[in-house]
Amino acid sequence: MDFRFNPEQEALRKEFDDFFREEMAKAPPEWGTSMEAMFGLDVCWEFHKKMAKKLAAKGWLSRAWPREYGGQDAPLIEQFIFSEVQGYYRGAGVDPWGVGMLAPTLLYGGSDEQKKEHLPPIARAELFWTQLWSEPGAGSDLASLTTRATRDGDDYVVNGQKIWTSGAHRADWGFMIARTNPEEKRSRGISFFLVDMKSPGITINPVLSLEGSHLFNEVFFDDVRVPARNMVGKENEGWLASQMMSNFERSMIILFSFLRRELEELVEFCKETKRGGKPLAENPHIRHKLAQLAIDIETGRAFAYFIVWNQEKHGLIAAGSYAAAAKVLATELNQRFSYIGCEILGLYGQVEYSKWAPLNGKYEKEYLQSISLNMGGGTSEVMRNLVCSLALGLPRSW
Ligand SMILES: Cc1cc2nc3c(=O)[nH]c(=O)nc-3n(C[C@H](O)[C@H](O)[C@H](O)COP(=O)(O)OP(=O)(O)OC[C@H]3O[C@@H](n4cnc5c(N)ncnc54)[C@H](O)[C@@H]3O)c2cc1C
Repeated sequence: MDFRFNPEQEALRKEFDDFFREEMAKAPPEWGTSMEAMFGLDVCWEFHKKMAKKLAAKGWLSRAWPREYGGQDAPLIEQFIFSEVQGYYRGAGVDPWGVGMLAPTLLYGGSDEQKKEHLPPIARAELFWTQLWSEPGAGSDLASLTTRATRDGDDYVVNGQKIWTSGAHRADWGFMIARTNPEEKRSRGISFFLVDMKSPGITINPVLSLEGSHLFNEVFFDDVRVPARNMVGKENEGWLASQMMSNFERSMIILFSFLRRELEELVEFCKETKRGGKPLAENPHIRHKLAQLAIDIETGRAFAYFIVWNQEKHGLIAAGSYAAAAKVLATELNQRFSYIGCEILGLYGQVEYSKWAPLNGKYEKEYLQSISLNMGGGTSEVMRNLVCSLALGLPRSW
C-alpha cells in the first residue's frame, strides 16, 4: 500500500481544500454537520443548492464520469480525495443520492437514453434525488418489500408505501424498487424505477427525527403511473442494480475525515476551557479519551485508504466485506465521539444550538443524530452479518 499522492493529486487536493475552506466559511450557522439540517431547514437547503451550482460549474460533481456524459474520466482516487476534503469541511453541495448513488448506477446499468436524460441535470445540479427503498415492513430485509408496480400499456402503475425516505420533500426525482412479479419470492421479481416525484398519486408526509428535524418522510403511491422507459435494467432484475449501488463510495472517508476536524475542535476547546482552575486538557481522564479518539480516527482513515486502493486495483466490487466493516467502524466511532463530546462538555453538552453555547451547542444534536447513522444504509448488526459471511466464511444468517 502506498499512501503518497503524486504532485497532480496534491495540487488537486489543495484546489478542493481552498474551495471548501473559503465557501464553507459562508455557511449559515445552523448548517452544522448533518443531513437533518440540510434537508430540514430552508436556509441550509438553499445554501446546499447554491454550493451544488458552484461545484457543478467546476465540473466536480461529474469528475469521475466518462467524458461522453460530461465527466472527466477522473480516477477513483481523485474522487476519494474530493470526499476527504468535503468531509473535513462539512462541505455542502453534493447530492448524496443523485451524485453519490444514482449517477454511478446509471453509468453501469442504465440505458443510453436514461444516461442522456438524467446524467446532465445531475452534473449541472438542476435536479435532486431521493432513495425510495425502505418500507414499513422491509428495512434490513429489503427483499420482502411489497410495493407493487403493474404493467399497463406503456406505463407501470405503482401502489404501496415507502418510509424513512430522506429528503423526499426536497427531491425532484426518486429511484425506487418495487415488486413487478408477485409470484416470485424475495429478490427475484423486483424492478428498479426512476420516478418523477411530482407524478400525480404521490403523497409525501414528514416523519420527524429524534431531535425534531424534518429529514425523513413516508411516501405513498396511489396508482402512480411511471413510464416503462424509466425502468433501469430488465424487468424483475432490479435487485442487481440496487445492490450495485452499494458498491460505490464505500470507504466512509467522509465520516472519518469529518471526525478528524471534530477532534481538532474538541482538542482546542479542552486547551482553552478551565474547570476547577485547570484546563480540561490537563485532566488525565479527558486526555486518554481524546487520545483514543485520535487513534480510532487514524485507524479508520488508513482503512478507508486501503479500501479505495483495493478498489482501484480490483474494481469497485472489491469493497465487499471491507465496506461493511468500514461502515461499522465509522458510524460506531461517530457515536462514541458524540458521547465523549457531551461528557467532556458536562451539562453544557445538553444545550441546544445558540451563539452562547460552547462549540455552537452542536453536541446536543450530534448525540441524538449519531444513533441513526448506525442504521441508515444498513444497520451495524446487518453489516456484521455481512462480515461474517463475506470475510469469515460463516453461514449466512438470513
Ligand atoms: C439516517 C437514516 C437515513 C435513512 N435514509 C433512507 C432513505 O433515504 N431511503 C430509504 O429507503 N431508507 C432510508 N433509511 C432506512 C434504513 O435503510 C433502514 O432503517 C434500515 O435498513 C433498517 O431497517 P428498519 O429500520 O426497518 O429496521 P429493521 O430491519 O426492522 O431492524 C430492527 C433491528 O433488528 C436488527 N436486525 C434486522 N435483521 C437482522 C438480522 N438478520 N440479524 C441481526 N439483526 C437484525 C437490526 O439491526 C435492528 O437493530 C434511513 C434510515 C436512517 C436511520
